Amino acid sequence: MKKQPILLLLILTLLGACAPAAATPTLPPAPPTPLPQPTPTPQPRSWWQDAVFYEIFVRSFYDSDGDGIGDFNGITQKLDYLSSLGIDAIWLMPINPATSYHGYDVTNYYAVNPEYGSMDDFKAMLNQAHQRGIRIIIDLVLNHTSVEHPWFADANGNPNSPYRNWYLWADSYPGYNGPFGTAWHAAKGGGYYYGVFWSGMPDLNYTNPEVTAEMYQVTRYWLQDIGVDGFRIDAARHLIEEGQKASDTPATLQWFADYYQFYKNLDPNAYTVSEIYGAGALIAKNYIGRADHIFNFELASGIVNSVNGEANSSITSAIKFMLKDKPDGQFATFLTNHDQDRVMSVFSGKVEKAKVAAAMLLTAPGTPFIYYGEEIGMQGRKPDPDIRRPMQWRDAPNAGFTSAPQAWRDPFGDYATVNVAAQENDPASLLNHYRTLIALRKAHPALSAGNTALMESGNRGVYSILRSTGSERILVVINLTGALISDYALNLSQSDLPDGVRTTQALFGNGQPANLTIANGAIDAYQPFAELAPYAIHIISIK
Ligand code: CA
Repeated sequence: MKKQPILLLLILTLLGACAPAAATPTLPPAPPTPLPQPTPTPQPRSWWQDAVFYEIFVRSFYDSDGDGIGDFNGITQKLDYLSSLGIDAIWLMPINPATSYHGYDVTNYYAVNPEYGSMDDFKAMLNQAHQRGIRIIIDLVLNHTSVEHPWFADANGNPNSPYRNWYLWADSYPGYNGPFGTAWHAAKGGGYYYGVFWSGMPDLNYTNPEVTAEMYQVTRYWLQDIGVDGFRIDAARHLIEEGQKASDTPATLQWFADYYQFYKNLDPNAYTVSEIYGAGALIAKNYIGRADHIFNFELASGIVNSVNGEANSSITSAIKFMLKDKPDGQFATFLTNHDQDRVMSVFSGKVEKAKVAAAMLLTAPGTPFIYYGEEIGMQGRKPDPDIRRPMQWRDAPNAGFTSAPQAWRDPFGDYATVNVAAQENDPASLLNHYRTLIALRKAHPALSAGNTALMESGNRGVYSILRSTGSERILVVINLTGALISDYALNLSQSDLPDGVRTTQALFGNGQPANLTIANGAIDAYQPFAELAPYAIHIISIK
């Protein structure tokens, strides 16, 4: 049924293409005949546009066999929990065999880490997740391998290795650092190899078509032979260096444009989300057609900084950039991830702030990603293993994560009170706050698919946006501060709301919001409530 408008568009395009040939050269060019504009066919939305993701570090989620290490069967056993949270998809941090505990130094791209289980365990987990309507994407570490990967082990110190040109070498020290410091490391038998992150992770050479062909095979294997739903692309911006330029080079952008075509040809429903560390809306624009999404770090820090500082300036700035450079909201959002201090630690354990941040994330444009444990307020500050500690399931030894006497790493010290079981049946818990907001996002398409307008609030402590589709308008009003606020007024010079008195309905938050009067499309000095309680969150449907 969607074929006809496309056909019409095709005919109109062909007509347009024929028009110049019909023009008589001796006459002044006729003004272009305005063609009737076909009604644009609404693009069917892709699954990831309306999904809520959950990021899992397998080693720390749940240990099913009592060896102190989380595993695939542990995730399978906790799928009911994830269903109850309401998430649609999971991002698994690296699941390949690797040298380090974190998995970002892969030694075999075609296998799973035996500490996490067998390939059959992985497939059973995937199957069980799919039966619950939960998709799974995996971390794909393209930029580099482990020094212990057989390719590098063969190439290091051996100029005749078939894998020599799979990596980057220099006979003498090139004399410059990479973006993270030393990037050229002493090779076996003299000379240097390039590894942008550290000596343990040599960069692959993507100017060599053999490397690209191999990673296309890896991609095909996981999508088609195993059946995962996509990939989170690690360190995407560093794929190909051009001289001393190590980020977002034209060659890198071209590589991902080709890669996008490759995996979309395999499966148009396959999804990639790229880590472009630190990127915001402007860089998201550069990666259109090169990944389905990139993570919007600018929006993430906008939310976290505004909540932490109790002022709307950071989030306002991030949303203004978004409205300028990526107004369709096609990017991934989050609060903090496995590379950053946990958001609850940033908020010094203050649950009200965690609730406000969750509400901002789950009502904002973009596809939200929740870092495991964030929904119960787990804490952790760097070093990295401390922000990737075991999930806190209950008040039991090792937080109920493992039956082993010793977990691979101790859980955070507050697990006796901060855990899933304690929050499960408490309607006021952070966990149930997340559940409610995820359910709200899924019940109201304006929150995932809607346009976004930034409201002026007249008070730096008040954050407000309007999300709207053709049929639904939702106003979000949040008091970022611990103080009661009455001195505020919401303004928007232009909205798509019809003039007149609009009735309102509270979707979230206490009280009945005042009716809203629209004149000439504008919202003028609207106060849904005379007072906003400390850290109040109001989500209001406007009829
Ligand atoms: Ca285990």
